Amino acid sequence: MRTREDCLQADLHDPLAPLKQQFELPAGLIYMDGNSLGVLPRAAAARSAAVIGQEWGAGLIRSWNTAGWFELPARLGDKLARLIGAGPGEVVVTDTTSLNLFKALAAALRIQQHAAPQRRVIVSERDNFPTDLYMIQGMIDLLQQGYEMRLVDETLPLEQALDDSVAVLLLSHVNYRTGHMHDMAAVTARAHARGALAIWDLAHAAGAVPVDVTGADADFAVGCTYKYLNGGPGSPAYIWVAPRHSQDFWQPLSGWWGHQRPFDMAVAYEPAGGIRRYLCGTQPIVSLALVECGLDISLAADMAEVRKKSLALGDLFIRLVEERCAGHPLTLVTPREHALRGSHVSIRHPQGYAVMQALIARGVIGDYREPEVLRFGLTPLYLGYADVWDAVEVLKDVLDSGAWQQPEYSRRTAVT
Ligand SMILES: *Cc1c(COP(=O)(O)O)cnc(C)c1O
Repeated sequence: MRTREDCLQADLHDPLAPLKQQFELPAGLIYMDGNSLGVLPRAAAARSAAVIGQEWGAGLIRSWNTAGWFELPARLGDKLARLIGAGPGEVVVTDTTSLNLFKALAAALRIQQHAAPQRRVIVSERDNFPTDLYMIQGMIDLLQQGYEMRLVDETLPLEQALDDSVAVLLLSHVNYRTGHMHDMAAVTARAHARGALAIWDLAHAAGAVPVDVTGADADFAVGCTYKYLNGGPGSPAYIWVAPRHSQDFWQPLSGWWGHQRPFDMAVAYEPAGGIRRYLCGTQPIVSLALVECGLDISLAADMAEVRKKSLALGDLFIRLVEERCAGHPLTLVTPREHALRGSHVSIRHPQGYAVMQALIARGVIGDYREPEVLRFGLTPLYLGYADVWDAVEVLKDVLDSGAWQQPEYSRRTAVT
């Protein structure tokens, strides 16, 4: 693709292009932040009107049974399962990714306490999304059993970090900042060979890259629905547990929704037989119901086509930035190699924050992550090749003109 006309041609022949019609995209915007907050599905307006007006308004308490509210976390879990290579009855959509990390980590440590009680190390990456590291720290502090966190970084490769003291390895499939993607099957096999269990955070992976938790033989997986799955701001997350672990233990947030028969109102906790034991309390039905609108679009897409287009958009973006913005202090953070790349491209600029604010002011929405990183999400369901072309032209203009130096672009907001 050498010209904008080439990009328009590629958009015309894009097999995913029709799916864009299922989203409500504001005119005049190039949205490259679907890895942080996905776009509004068109179906969500009617769905929310039905949930609020008919199910809540008219149905009231009856809707727990008549509108399928009670079954919703598991029914949506079955749909989500198809996007991550899991089977029916293995996933629930519930709570937040952080909470689900807590549950998965607690269950994994319980399993290891029986299988290999001497193991006291939880391995993650220094570069992992902070909430993952914070939840590990909170768990260690809560348990008071001598657990420690060990972080993989430039000085400590994964191979070296995985020794016989490791109970659990907790990694993100795609790194939120760099866009680096792990080979889930290979890394899980390495963890298992050392006797560790593998928990995968799929927040930047599900819906964006092919994921196969079963094929990778993973132990637990969690992720959110508001990024590439377009579930809405703060929409409930999900948790998958490998069937081999689902009956052994239960997680400590053992609220009544995870009980085998919650309406027995029994004094003693008895965990539900399957994945439902990973529920805690009453679900946020309005938000949960809307998750289905985004999931249905992702399920209608051919994941092989999504991956192919995501990589093509990334290749185009990287090449155009290097050609058009040459001479500016930009450094590519994301791996070029397809096998190592997720679905966003990150670029460093010493004044990254201000450059991103100037881009946003001109209708190109990406985001900024410390330190100095401009993040551009490439969401094949609604982003086209010509969008990428236009975005790079705006970036070039912002850099060439020095527009980012205007003082208002350096003012920090609460959310970057
Ligand atoms: C976005 C993201 C989260 C978010 O967790 P919440 O509890 O939903 O706020 C967690 N982990 C990773 C890797 C993420 O990218």
